[in-house]
Amino acid sequence: MDIALRRGFIWPSFEIYGGVSGFYDFGPLGSLLKNKIIQKWREYYVLGEGFFEVDSPAVTPEEVLKASGHVNHFVDAMTECQKCGAAFRVADVVREVTGRDVEGMSKGEMEQFMKKHGVRCPDCNGELGHVFDFNAIFRTTIGPGTQRVGYLRPETAQGIFIDFKRLQRHARGRLPFGAVQIGRGYRNEISPRQGIIRLREFTMAEAEVFFDPEDPHHPKFSDVAGEKFRLWLAVDQEKGRERLNEVTAEQAVDGKLVCNELMAYYIALTKRFLGDIGIPKGAVRFRQQTPGQRAHYSAETWDAEVLTERFGWVEVAGLAYRTDYDLTRHAEASGEDLAVFSADKKRKVICHVVEPSYGIDRPLYCLLEHAFAQERGRAYLRLKKDMAPIEVGVFPLLNRDGLPEKAEVVYEGLRREGFMAEYDESGSIGRRYARADEVGTPYCVTIDHRTLEDETATIRDRDTAKQVRAEIKELPRLLRSLLSGEMPFEMAGEAVKSKSERP
Ligand SMILES: [Zn+2]
Repeated sequence: MDIALRRGFIWPSFEIYGGVSGFYDFGPLGSLLKNKIIQKWREYYVLGEGFFEVDSPAVTPEEVLKASGHVNHFVDAMTECQKCGAAFRVADVVREVTGRDVEGMSKGEMEQFMKKHGVRCPDCNGELGHVFDFNAIFRTTIGPGTQRVGYLRPETAQGIFIDFKRLQRHARGRLPFGAVQIGRGYRNEISPRQGIIRLREFTMAEAEVFFDPEDPHHPKFSDVAGEKFRLWLAVDQEKGRERLNEVTAEQAVDGKLVCNELMAYYIALTKRFLGDIGIPKGAVRFRQQTPGQRAHYSAETWDAEVLTERFGWVEVAGLAYRTDYDLTRHAEASGEDLAVFSADKKRKVICHVVEPSYGIDRPLYCLLEHAFAQERGRAYLRLKKDMAPIEVGVFPLLNRDGLPEKAEVVYEGLRREGFMAEYDESGSIGRRYARADEVGTPYCVTIDHRTLEDETATIRDRDTAKQVRAEIKELPRLLRSLLSGEMPFEMAGEAVKSKSERP
């Protein structure tokens, strides 16, 4: 978090006014990293799956969220301290004090649990009052006056359901088909105490996969059939067993551990995606929500969870089987016929939906934490090369003899070639390497006296600190191959053996 704050990844929002909990800014490097995660997500869902992307408003009229059930069901159980008045989300305060999970319990059960375990106010040790529901949607009005109620959307999914008819026409009637939306979601958290893990405004990337309920197959299932993932079944959680089932996607379907082939496919895809942004395989599990934990629209939900040092297991994505719930509700409330022809064109059906829904902020935190490495007195981010916000640092070895001028030409050239490059001439070369390592910059190009004679420069590798010397005109091609992982570092040029050039 020190690096994240100091180097411009994550900043508290509204900082000069004292900040507001549940809100964070992404600084210059955080914004670049966030965009890389989004770009990677699009590679999976828009390019890979061929899903259509839409972009709908965050402000949503009340009718939509009444029909979707959010106005009535998007609630959190909360309690207030009788002494100091602090408000708490019951599940959070219980977890903080006892480490136990009460999500899904009734309000009465929660009160009993808190009494039995002596859960008191973590701030002042005062007694906690009754448990009651708090609706977590931000409310506003559309236009002047208060006639028309609107809300900030709690999920981007509704924008897709509302556009279903047009999207289905766009898909020319093909089933299954999918649509995605990447954008802000809002949740008026009671008292967020977990930094960037619990935000009131966050970025989400959601896919709604519409299918014929009699044909829940994915055309490319064979691509993932052998992919292994670890499942923590609801039945084991209910018995207090922390037992993980490691299965392939195919075994998950055949053994009926998951509801259908589409669900298994997207669990496998989620696992691949998380690995691809740099989260180690061993730190990922899929937890099946117990019936009490599930959202009102879901018949089966799997949370992708990542193990972190700071927050324990963190949910980074949720895969919900939303059945025909949303389309049926919107058909009823709007009067539109949202039934379509089945996959075999012989029946009319209301499509069912499997929804892979990802947060973007939480995976960003998780990958920063997992990238953080300390060795031999240096602290750096071992980000995947294609995820690093800055791809290449360009430095003059010394601040004289025409080296800075030459380095700036190289720097400008690399930016024109599309590289996110950074120029740095302040402090010793060692300090500059350390600064680049600290933010995960995979390669640094250094301009020295030899450059002025023969148009070559050194490239330094972040992880090994090894250097090679290559021709400047070859840099774009070499860096591209290095960043994509196609070329081993030693192949990029002639090895620099002596350290005599480094002060
Ligand atoms: Zn208190």
